[in-house]
Amino acid sequence: MKVTAPEALTVRPLPEICRAARRVNCGECWQVPGKPCTAEGDHVARFGRAMRRGLISGPDLLAVLGTLNAFTTATVICDARDGAR
Ligand SMILES: [Zn+2]
Repeated sequence: MKVTAPEALTVRPLPEICRAARRVNCGECWQVPGKPCTAEGDHVARFGRAMRRGLISGPDLLAVLGTLNAFTTATVICDARDGAR
């Protein structure tokens, strides 16, 4: 019997997910692709949009949202490595 490893649900590091999400414009503040929404990071709306376009995966999005206790589409995701938010 041949056993193959299941496809891993790999989640990228947060800064990488943020960079990918930044390739779309933001549905919250309409920031243009390539520029962060705020000095601190990007809106949740942008991550949802990036997922719909296939730039980030569902697990990536869940990993980002999992760091929050509560959020709206206007919540800013901080891409700082130390988790400051
Ligand atoms: Zn925004």
